[in-house]
Amino acid sequence: MQEIVLASRPEAEPTPENFRLETSPLPTPGDGEVVVKVHYMSLDPYMRGRMDDAKSYAAPVPIGGRMEAGAVGEVIASNSPHFKVGDFAFGMFGWASHGCLPARELRKLDPSQGPITAALGVLGMPGFTGWHGLSAYGRPQAGETLVVAAATGPVGSMVGQLAKKAGLRVIGIAGGAEKCKMAVETFGFDACLDHRAYADARALRKDLKEACPKGIDIYFENVGGKVLEAVLPMMNPHGRIPICGMIAWYNAGGLGEGASDAALTGPNIWRNVLVKFLSVNGFIISNHFDRYPEFLKEVGPMVAKGELRFVEDIAEGLENAPTAFMAMLKGGNTGKQIVKLV
Ligand code: NDP
Repeated sequence: MQEIVLASRPEAEPTPENFRLETSPLPTPGDGEVVVKVHYMSLDPYMRGRMDDAKSYAAPVPIGGRMEAGAVGEVIASNSPHFKVGDFAFGMFGWASHGCLPARELRKLDPSQGPITAALGVLGMPGFTGWHGLSAYGRPQAGETLVVAAATGPVGSMVGQLAKKAGLRVIGIAGGAEKCKMAVETFGFDACLDHRAYADARALRKDLKEACPKGIDIYFENVGGKVLEAVLPMMNPHGRIPICGMIAWYNAGGLGEGASDAALTGPNIWRNVLVKFLSVNGFIISNHFDRYPEFLKEVGPMVAKGELRFVEDIAEGLENAPTAFMAMLKGGNTGKQIVKLV
């Protein structure tokens, strides 16, 4: 079998030298364990955090350790009564051609119910993140205005589509004209602005004001950086900011390109939170999987009926996972980034 391990820690942006492809013997299942041949694996922004050894909510990948990932595939050996050869399952198998896990850590998939890749995106962790973050912390009300960046990704597109269904005005922010077109035409956003087209946050804010004539009630935070800087002064009283991610800062640690005014200084952030009575909630989705069955029950039928759309970007071959991952961090993906192994 093949796997990709963390060869070294990145200084800023990851480089190909940070990854190494290794070959090892196929695992044999212990008692209660299942071996899966991976068909598709997920690439997600959180993996960038696992490459650093800074203290965080999850342990870093050790040097020489397998990169972490959720994946779906077919059972090829089983020592558990709950799985038989030929079953399909989701598990945290990592960046690898095969995985061996206890049956209790796997989720059985039914390929007749739709593509198994959905378990990595729209009906998996990212889609669930959008649904939970919006419902629990965004608390959408018809007639309000929501802004979300990374709008065509699996989190942003879930948030935008659910908010539209709830009767909100929904403005996306995405990188490039094609993604903006997709946000409007495929995902039904009312409008979408290309953050790359603006030199700084002030310029972006000017057009956001036109797109959001009644201000912003919910800013679903996926990116930080220039977008946050543009949005913060536009928040309405009693606005909500679910803090889901801040990808603009995952590599840089600073304000990033286009930081232009003082909106992101600590005092200014706190002043905005205070004088506009904002509710700002950070969350890490792994703490909320008790709601996952509720999510599947609500969103699964919408996906099956085509009422909720999703887009996948599929790279080919485990050896190409590092390139696809590095590109995704900079917006190289269009839709949920997946790697096809079989
Ligand atoms: P995406 O598939 O949307 O990929 C990331 C996208 O981020 C890129 O495609 C790019 O889109 C955008 N991006 C990258 N750099 C910048 C930048 N400097 N400014 C603005 N946008 C940028 O990712 P996901 O949908 O999987 O995740 C979205 C966010 O949600 C991430 O921050 C992620 O870490 C977070 N997340 C948090 C979870 C939690 O538990 N809190 C769980 C899952 C995800 P574009 O080209 O359109 O700019």
